[in-house]
Amino acid sequence: MEVRLIAATQCLDQTGPEELLERAGRLCYASAMGDTAKFLRARVREGHLSLIEHATASFYIGGISRTCSHQLVRHRLCSFSQRSQRYVSEGGAEFIVPLSIAQNEEASRVYQNFLASSREAYTTLRELGVPKEDSRFVLPNATETELIMSLNFREALHLFRVRISRGAQWEIREVCARMLDQLSPIAPSLFGELLDELKGAHPEWFRFLPQQDEVDQASEK
Ligand SMILES: Cc1cc2nc3c(=O)[nH]c(=O)nc-3n(C[C@H](O)[C@H](O)[C@H](O)COP(=O)(O)OP(=O)(O)OC[C@H]3O[C@@H](n4cnc5c(N)ncnc54)[C@H](O)[C@@H]3O)c2cc1C
Repeated sequence: MEVRLIAATQCLDQTGPEELLERAGRLCYASAMGDTAKFLRARVREGHLSLIEHATASFYIGGISRTCSHQLVRHRLCSFSQRSQRYVSEGGAEFIVPLSIAQNEEASRVYQNFLASSREAYTTLRELGVPKEDSRFVLPNATETELIMSLNFREALHLFRVRISRGAQWEIREVCARMLDQLSPIAPSLFGELLDELKGAHPEWFRFLPQQDEVDQASEK
């Protein structure tokens, strides 16, 4: 899986997204710029959330299954551009393998056999002249996809709360955990606390981060 922050709001005076959000909020109350973190946290706490819609971020997300992307695109306030199965051949498609299957020898055998027959059916249909948009009907939810996703910070907070949770599916949870980890440094007042809280309570959801012993080893070199 690859999740990469590729763009985020920056003001023309080179200040970051939080300064813009503070400016928007201060305008409402005709108050002077001050302690950005304190101001923004207070607004979020009281539910004055429209002001944090002024900042946005865009992510490249690759190496995920169509199962995962289907869940992502349910978030209506985000914008998406996804690799098309109508216009792009899936002849060389890769497939995502869940850990529960990878760790089970017999399940892996069943899974790999199924993927091979799906791949073969797709290729045969294409050779028979069936268009890509119809040949794709034999492809599984496991088919790898990529997309670019843009969202404002209010939607990001919502997305993280519902998708980095015990009830969320493991793959979308990891996508969102990686997004939160990359957004937090550029808007720490909004996302820092949530990241620390989730990392503290569920370190297993952040296994993609370098572990402390790896960091120590790297700094020794
Ligand atoms: C654990 C979990 C299990 C799920 N299981 C299922 C399932 O079994 N079947 C299924 O179909 N879906 C399921 N979903 C998807 C879920 O129902 C939502 O479609 C998805 O999470 C998108 O979130 P959202 O509705 O908050 O939309 P977003 O687009 O993220 O919208 C953000 C917020 O904007 C507001 N909003 C947006 N559009 C409207 C609107 N039209 N009217 C009023 N307010 C609006 C709401 O406050 C909403 O929360 C599941 C989601 C989770 C997290």
